Amino acid sequence: MTVADRAAAGFHQVYAQPPAGRWAAPGRVNLIGEHTDYNDGFVLPFALPLRTVAAAAPQPGETWTVWSELTGETVDFGAAEVTGAGRVTGWAGYVAGIVWALREAGYQVPGARLAIASDVPLGAGLSSSAALEAAVLAALVDLGGLDLPAEAQPRLAQRAENHYVGAPTGIMDQSAAIRCRAGHALFLDCRTEQVEHIPFDLNAAGLAILVIDSNAPHRHVDGEYAARRNSCEKAAALLDVPALRDVPTDGLDDTLARLPDDETRRRVRHVVTENQRVCDTVELLRARQIQQIGPLLVASHTSMRDDFAITVPEVDTAVEAALAAGALGARMTGGGFGGCVLALVEADHSDTVANAVTDAYARRGFTAPTHTTVTPATGATRLD
Ligand code: ADP
Ligand code: MG
Repeated sequence: MTVADRAAAGFHQVYAQPPAGRWAAPGRVNLIGEHTDYNDGFVLPFALPLRTVAAAAPQPGETWTVWSELTGETVDFGAAEVTGAGRVTGWAGYVAGIVWALREAGYQVPGARLAIASDVPLGAGLSSSAALEAAVLAALVDLGGLDLPAEAQPRLAQRAENHYVGAPTGIMDQSAAIRCRAGHALFLDCRTEQVEHIPFDLNAAGLAILVIDSNAPHRHVDGEYAARRNSCEKAAALLDVPALRDVPTDGLDDTLARLPDDETRRRVRHVVTENQRVCDTVELLRARQIQQIGPLLVASHTSMRDDFAITVPEVDTAVEAALAAGALGARMTGGGFGGCVLALVEADHSDTVANAVTDAYARRGFTAPTHTTVTPATGATRLD
C-alpha cells in the first residue's frame, strides 16, 4: 500500500468515516551548505520522493485528535493544551505545536481529526519532523480556509518546532518541506528567507542522487552542534561582523590571521568556503551543468571533515567508497556525527556505487548502511 493509502486506511479504521482530504509533505536532503544556516548563509535542499501524509476531516469544537501509524497511538487535545507551549509532549507535540503556532498568529484553527502515515525515516537527518509539521499545517490551512500563503508557512512551522516542541532548528527543513518544487533544488538565503527554485533535473541528465544512511551510532550530537555554533558566534564577534555570512571569500587568509587560534580559523574557513560552494553550485545548476558539481560536493566533504570536524569514520568511509566506485561527487549531508551521505551518480550506476559502500563497510566491520536513490520531488501538496 502507498503511504497515501495507508493514511486513508488508518483514518477509516480509527474514525469509522472517510477523510475529507489528504495532504502530503516530503522529507528533504541538503545538496550542499552545511552549518551555514545559523551563520545567516545559504543552503540548497531538495525534496525527497519520501513523504508524510495526513488524512484529515473537521471535528466539532476546539478539539483535535491525531493518530499515527508509527506508534498506533491516538492522542486527543483541546484548547487548554494549545494555549501554552509544550503541553502536549512526545510525537503529537509536533501536531499540537502547529495548532498552537496558528492560534498564536491569530488564526481560527478548525477542530480536526487526523491520521498520519509516513515513508520518511525518523531521526535519519531527512527531516521527518518538518514533513509531519508541513503535512498537518497544509491540512489545517485548507480545512479552515485560512489565509496563510506558502511563503509564510515555514516560519510558522519553525516556531512550532522551536517553541512548542522545544527543538532548536533553523528555517531550512520547513522551507524545503513546504516550498520545494519537483525537478528543482531550493536556494534559500537563511538571512532574508528569500528562496529561488534552481533547476535540478537529475532525470533529464540521466543522473540520480544516492542517499546512504551511514547507520553510525549517534555520538554527542547536541553538544557538538552547540560547540560549533558557539565558535561561529564568537568568531563573528571577533571579526566584528553580524554573522560569518558577512566574511568575504576574497582575502580570507588575511581575515583568518586576525583570529586567535587554529581551531577557530578552521571553523570560519569551513563556513565561508561552504557558502561560496553553495553559490558556485547554484551557478552550475543554472547553466544546466549538473555533472560539474561533483568536485564542489567533494570539497564540501573535505571541509566538513578537516576544518569543521563533524564527520565520523562511517561517513568518511561511505564517501571514499562511493567516489572510488565512480560517483561524480559525494558528501555527508546534515548536521554531522552520523546521518546520511549523498552521492551524485549516473542513474544506471547507482547499484554499483551502493554495493561498493556496503562492501567497504563490511571490510571495516561497521553496521551495514541502508540506501535509496532519489530525484527532486515536490513540496507540500493536497492529494485529494
Ligand atoms: P528528523 O527530523 O531528522 O527525522 P527529528 O528528531 O527532528 O528527526 O524528528 C523526529 C521526531 O518527529 C520523531 O521522534 C517523532 O516524534 C516525530 N515524527 C516524525 N514523523 C512522525 C510520524 N510519522 N509519526 C509520529 N511522529 C513523527
Ligand atoms: Mg527534524
